Amino acid sequence: MGLTLSDRNACMLQSEIRNMSIECRRVGGINLAQGVCDTPVPEAVLQGAAEAIGQGINSYTHYAGLLELREALALKQKKFSSLTFDPECEIIVSAGATGALYCAFQALLNSGDEVIVFEPFYGYHISTLQAAEAVPVYLPLNLPDWSFSAHDLERTVTSRTKAIIVNTPANPSGKVFSSDELEIIASFAERFDLFVFTDEIYEHFVYGDCVHRSFASLPGMRERTITVSGSSKTFSVTGWRIGYLFCDARWAQAIGYFNDLVYVCAPAPLQAGVATGLRELGDDYYHNLAVEYQAKRDRFCEALSLAGLHPSIPDGAYYVLADVSRIPGLTGKERAMHILQKTGLASVPGGAFYHDKRGEKMVRFCFAKEDAVLDEAIRRLQLLD
Ligand code: GLN
Repeated sequence: MGLTLSDRNACMLQSEIRNMSIECRRVGGINLAQGVCDTPVPEAVLQGAAEAIGQGINSYTHYAGLLELREALALKQKKFSSLTFDPECEIIVSAGATGALYCAFQALLNSGDEVIVFEPFYGYHISTLQAAEAVPVYLPLNLPDWSFSAHDLERTVTSRTKAIIVNTPANPSGKVFSSDELEIIASFAERFDLFVFTDEIYEHFVYGDCVHRSFASLPGMRERTITVSGSSKTFSVTGWRIGYLFCDARWAQAIGYFNDLVYVCAPAPLQAGVATGLRELGDDYYHNLAVEYQAKRDRFCEALSLAGLHPSIPDGAYYVLADVSRIPGLTGKERAMHILQKTGLASVPGGAFYHDKRGEKMVRFCFAKEDAVLDEAIRRLQLLD
């Protein structure tokens, strides 16, 4: 046998998001690669966590999370999606949305199960599927508006198809799936009896006239949908790792057991901080968040256009894919490195979001930055000749 890595390593590479963050640090640049929001954490969230530490909420919680957090989450989901979930048996708090998705895949997917993934995709969805030995089947979204048809969906189905992933608002495209599109997916999921894993972590980052609709609220979808989200983006606490999922009681216990085995529980006082934030922050907080980020989107996309890096204007989330074909280089990576060298701005090569060559002319920028940082980034974009 000998001292060797497991075969599983064949599909495990360091993510380009991390690679570019390292390259960025090397040159002391501005990191527009990793989706870290450096906008302030709401005071209620910080205080809630600090008080919890002081009050001794420092031990393990229930594997599904603090009941006070699950209760706050049930109210949130009722308010934003009109869906009722029982905090006792239909909500699991995990180590970030990624942890929640990992546990859901482990509990519900078998080795060799095929899972349909829209492309461009978020790479962690793919690696988390692969960790469950499931097989991603790619469904390309068509530019310029990231569209797809019912026919496209049907072409991806085989006898091994078990599920589909819907990430709305989407990373990296910024697509917000319309009601019509969600209905197409719903009737498809029903017809082929599929699970639907949704990643809705950018639910509050929606711009213009677009509206986020939680997939489980479509008629008949609640039972087959695992709704994943988290606090990282909404409360700017990416390092706290507080994610969660909502699903029918039929699935929640098995998912919760995996959560226990892998993480035991999410950090206790930070769960309490998020619960306080959910209870205390009103509609104006969520409204202002979208307004503030829309202004960042508009300013940054305009600067990209001026620099000749044509942006695909996102309707949601806080990333923008830009067409960087005018930048020297053969691959997205070479182009991202050229941009980093000339401007000190780190981005993620488009190849990280595609399984084939279609991402080579794109890079992804994150615009979740404080205004002064964004201003500097905008200034530096104009350094590109
Ligand atoms: N979701 C964020 C992104 O897309 C951060 C991911 C990460 O660091 N793993 O950049």
